[in-house]
Amino acid sequence: MKIIDTHVHLGDIYGLFDNFDIFDQKFKHSDRPSPYERLKFRNIYGGKLNYLFKPLIASSARSMTRYANLPNLLQSMQKSGVSQSIVLALEPFVKSDVILNICQNNPSLIPFCSIHPLDRDKKEKIKRYVTAGAKGLKLHPVIQRILPDSLDTLELLEEVAPYNIPVLYHVGWGSIGRGSYGMIDNYRKILRSFPRMKFIFAHMGFYEPIPLLDMIENCPNVYCDTSWQPAGIIKKAIAKLGKDRIIFGSDWPYSLQQTSLNIILKLTEDKPQLREKILHKNIERIISAGI
Ligand SMILES: [Zn+2]
Repeated sequence: MKIIDTHVHLGDIYGLFDNFDIFDQKFKHSDRPSPYERLKFRNIYGGKLNYLFKPLIASSARSMTRYANLPNLLQSMQKSGVSQSIVLALEPFVKSDVILNICQNNPSLIPFCSIHPLDRDKKEKIKRYVTAGAKGLKLHPVIQRILPDSLDTLELLEEVAPYNIPVLYHVGWGSIGRGSYGMIDNYRKILRSFPRMKFIFAHMGFYEPIPLLDMIENCPNVYCDTSWQPAGIIKKAIAKLGKDRIIFGSDWPYSLQQTSLNIILKLTEDKPQLREKILHKNIERIISAGI
């Protein structure tokens, strides 16, 4: 079956290293699951104890970034049976032009561009990136160090709206940068201001999945990816949001494509229609709508 991983990173998204080379397999991915991953992202005591993992996740994020090169990604896809990956630019550290160029030369990769909300050339850039093949926009308040309800972000979303592309937004605590900028309350304003914009809320709010699901339940324009969530939470998300709003994502290389995929495969064992929707149909519908 066709499998699309909607949340994949290439390059040094945190700006940690000098001269990071996306094409060079200098560091070969060990394919060993990270510490939190080994616990299958379990929400211990309803997520209340997960903050204990914060230092672990932060140090793992630093070391996993080194593996975010193209040869490692293509190997991971081949090994886990992922047919296509959506690769996310993340300005200012991973440039949209670089990701667009890589995806142009690799038919199994689909590009999402990124623009920093403080960028003065927003209008010109979004037009150029969509024309060059970007299928969505990636924003990350923690790494970009800017709140989702800031005026500059609202201005950027205004510019993006006419293109009718999805905005994949990091939602929830983040390990490196301004961690608290990702907390879910910061997103209420954009939900109110852009009721027709297609948002993909990544990680289901990370440590706050239950309040996040409550917050977006009545927002049919908001989708969730499954990265960093255990089977129990994904099940709740399907019950609350329906089958059409859940999308498979791994956040590779920060967690393995195989780990996240196994969770979905197990969850959809006797439900072929649900499996198809989560693994490819939902995201295909969202990115194909166009202008
Ligand atoms: Zn990510």
